[in-house]
Amino acid sequence: MTQPARAVHPPAPTDYVKTYYAHSANPAPERAALIGDASCDVCVLGAGFSGISTALHLAEKGLKVIVLEAAKVGWGASGRNGGQIINGYSRDYDTILGRYGETTAKALLGMSFEGGDIIRERVVKYNINCDFKVGAFFAAFTEGQMKFLERRMQVWKQAGNTDLEMIGKDRVREISDTGLYIGGLLDKRGGHIHPLNLVLGQAAALEKLGGRIYEQSRVTRVERGARPVAYTSNGKVTANTIVVCGNAYIGDAVPELAPRFMSVSSQIVTTEVLGEAVTSQLMPRGYCLEDCNFLLDYYRITGDHRLLFGGGVVYSGAEPADIQRRLVPHIERTFPALKGRKIDFAWSCNFALTLTRMPHIGRLSDNVYFIHGDSGHGVTTCHLLGRLTAEAINQQASRYDVFASMKNYPFPGGRMFRVPLTALGAWYYGMREKLGI
Ligand SMILES: Cc1cc2nc3c(=O)[nH]c(=O)nc-3n(C[C@H](O)[C@H](O)[C@H](O)COP(=O)(O)OP(=O)(O)OC[C@H]3O[C@@H](n4cnc5c(N)ncnc54)[C@H](O)[C@@H]3O)c2cc1C
Repeated sequence: MTQPARAVHPPAPTDYVKTYYAHSANPAPERAALIGDASCDVCVLGAGFSGISTALHLAEKGLKVIVLEAAKVGWGASGRNGGQIINGYSRDYDTILGRYGETTAKALLGMSFEGGDIIRERVVKYNINCDFKVGAFFAAFTEGQMKFLERRMQVWKQAGNTDLEMIGKDRVREISDTGLYIGGLLDKRGGHIHPLNLVLGQAAALEKLGGRIYEQSRVTRVERGARPVAYTSNGKVTANTIVVCGNAYIGDAVPELAPRFMSVSSQIVTTEVLGEAVTSQLMPRGYCLEDCNFLLDYYRITGDHRLLFGGGVVYSGAEPADIQRRLVPHIERTFPALKGRKIDFAWSCNFALTLTRMPHIGRLSDNVYFIHGDSGHGVTTCHLLGRLTAEAINQQASRYDVFASMKNYPFPGGRMFRVPLTALGAWYYGMREKLGI
């Protein structure tokens, strides 16, 4: 007799990946795994920014929330990213306008800065110690990129963000002491944080409001119905509503989501502690920076005065063998004076890329929602999408529905060919940039 096919789920990691963030994380409680049955108003799958943000918005409204996390709070991209609070989306206004029309584009633009505002509000309200710093800089290599940023500034100003300034070549070294850039756009409504401590702080706030978080509790199946059920290997949670926020690490718990995104990894290193005298020379104003290339570099100074530098992507989501060897040449090109400095931490992490490069939210049924597909730009967006999802669950879906109405397509090529096809596309855009066309 043939055995029925069994889904294979990756084992839940029991600890954080060795990163600078895990090394400098604030103390957090050991959270038990779910054993047995529980019930609540809303069950959230995944304790990253999307999941914890949604759960906290709901708990603030008095709902009873349970979060099920496969590994640990912030184990995924939320606890391992560049920490840059970048406003807007991974596609600019004109692309969104061309693709989805004026009503959607204007509505999205109106929400562009809300994610960053939520972070700032929560840092203050819940007294979260996460090295928050004001200021994000978009660095341009070419006149074409400067024009692109001028247009971004114009659009963002119209939408109410007046904390913006174009910086020319004469002043760009105040932001990053390198000869690489000809200028860029400074957004003082952006900034940076220690992302793991931000998500841990929000998790603690959630628990103070009565929310429960179970770690080591991978959801293996979500059963639909009048009261949907999330199953783990040792228990289940029955809820009025389930929100799926597993993003790139969801595995096959919700099979409908798999064709809609591709796991892509990006890599980060941090140097040894350089000391304030050095870091204040490298980045005198203490802002974070990302450049305008298709395959971009992003960096900033940490709270304990290291350089944290990220860049590059691997389209299969694989972890490259030698992260340091990939990124150190980029650091040395940017700051030759750092040649020979020790790298203390090097890590990789996956985000979920959608074909449109826009985040993807929606309902799998009346009472099962999902958030995923940040496409590498989610520190602010996940906080916004958590709020919108909480609004929809509370019967105020008008803003949610604008986002959910954006069409999202499966990747062409299926599981077999989507990786080479996307890599080919990225190579093409990277090549155009190198050739200046
Ligand atoms: C290297 C890197 C650098 C980045 N830098 C930036 C940046 O500087 N600025 C920016 O805006 N964005 C950045 N991003 C993107 C940003 O980190 C993400 O958009 C964001 O963290 C996604 O949050 P999330 O909650 O949706 O997913 P995640 O943080 O990945 O959380 C998903 C969680 O769900 C859990 N999970 C998965 N499946 C299950 C299951 N079946 N059951 C229970 N739990 C499950 C996982 O263990 C994980 O903890 C970066 C991403 C990467 C990878």
